[in-house]
Amino acid sequence: MRGRGEAVLICNVIAGEERPAVGGTVFEKFAPATGDVLSVVTRSDASDVDAAISAAAAAQPRWAARTVEERGRIIRRIAQLLEREREAVVAVVAAETGKSPKDAKGETDGAIELGYFIAGEGRRFYGKTMPSATPNRYAMTIRQPLGVAGLIIAANTPIANVAWKVFPALLCGNACVLKASEDTPETPVLFARLAREAGLPDGVLNIVQGFGAEAGQPLVEDSRVAVVSFTGSTAVGRMIAEVAGKRLAKVCLELGGKNPLVVCDDANLEKAAETAALSAFSNAGQRCAAGSRLIVFDSVYDRFRELLLERAGAQKVGPGDEHDFGPVINERQLANMLGAVERAKAAGATVLTGGERLTGEGYDGGFYIGPTIVENTDGSSEISRTELFGPITTLHRVRDFDEALALANASPYGLTAAIWTSSIHRGNEFLHRVVAGGVQVNGPTYGFEPHVPFGGQKDSGTGWREPGTEALDVYSDWKTVYVTHDPAAV
Ligand code: NAD
Repeated sequence: MRGRGEAVLICNVIAGEERPAVGGTVFEKFAPATGDVLSVVTRSDASDVDAAISAAAAAQPRWAARTVEERGRIIRRIAQLLEREREAVVAVVAAETGKSPKDAKGETDGAIELGYFIAGEGRRFYGKTMPSATPNRYAMTIRQPLGVAGLIIAANTPIANVAWKVFPALLCGNACVLKASEDTPETPVLFARLAREAGLPDGVLNIVQGFGAEAGQPLVEDSRVAVVSFTGSTAVGRMIAEVAGKRLAKVCLELGGKNPLVVCDDANLEKAAETAALSAFSNAGQRCAAGSRLIVFDSVYDRFRELLLERAGAQKVGPGDEHDFGPVINERQLANMLGAVERAKAAGATVLTGGERLTGEGYDGGFYIGPTIVENTDGSSEISRTELFGPITTLHRVRDFDEALALANASPYGLTAAIWTSSIHRGNEFLHRVVAGGVQVNGPTYGFEPHVPFGGQKDSGTGWREPGTEALDVYSDWKTVYVTHDPAAV
């Protein structure tokens, strides 16, 4: 309940009940747009996580016993309710992230679309049949649920992040314990309420609030959790892989990126600059697939820089629909970004624009940084190797295609990449040779749709793909079955 001037209390959802953490402690969640307290959030510890896992483990067998078609029907109903309640969802996403209602709507529509897509998989859920060398025998594969799925998510696109994991996990017959991001606690609770209304049995989707070390780690450690699916930073992903590895749990990691966008001398420079600005700055750069390294051929570098600076200068920063992007998620992240820019400057880089906290009317209290472009930094510098998760991009000058490709690949990450060229030869050569989970030729570094597989190589992931039908591989195991019959017994 939200009283006048009172922050709402956000609870856990365990066995269908919204309840505070057993320890009774809370933390404050601040609105990124204003810095004001937005909500008070229950702070879970291992005992709350234990209760959520117990609820999930108790509910899972009955959920798995339903037909996959029926599970798909409930998922479709959740998507319909998300559509019905779109305005309420958009309002919560916008308030928790500081992004504009327009951007929150785009993200919510993506979540709805994924719901419909995954619901349809309830009518497909294909395995394969194979012949056998033995007469009157054949083999087939069928998907099996894993049991309890532990889901841990980031805050950048909160409703999409919930949908990306919960829909495929449910379709496959798992029960879920989702650890909400401490920066977007209310969004998954809203989702869970709609799921309940759609007919999802209590205990099949549980939400725990709190911090990573207190509420996330116990989920990763618990031997009843069969699969841990994590979206977040590479540093935390590495810790999760270590902890879950000890007990040989299945682990899907969707991690950070430092994504290159290459601009060749035969590119449409206007469009390339437009797309580069969107890749770098939209959603305040808080995309794993943000275009955070722009690699430009020497002969068009000056013109491209001019076009990019024009676009950066035209960006309107603020939380409304009239703005291009909003604040970053919290004070700590903002301080990280500002620190990285300062260190880059001290190391000799040039900040062409931005790099400072925005203050003054409309900005005071909020976590704002303007579009930031850094040049004169080489591929081995901290700022061009570290993910900053903000509206910050580096600009690099290269001689030719080979140098561009080498620089694109000179990164610990391998999430997405893009190239702008009018040559089919360059485009093809790049898409084959760049080390990345997703590539766009004449497109942005982000914007992968709900029906296509998405994930990274190197430090960006562990090889799994979400969403697309490939997401079903994360949340199910294949069982291989032989059937033999005896024609004489017919
Ligand atoms: P983060 O790693 O700090 O936190 C992500 C989640 O992990 C949060 O819910 C947090 O509470 C939890 N967590 C933290 N420590 C934990 C621990 N020890 N054990 C278990 N859980 C723990 O990331 P963030 O800053 O919230 O999000 C930004 C990151 O997410 C960026 O690196 C971004 O690239 C990445 N991301 C990746 C994708 C993708 O699909 N590859 C999508 C979105 C975001």
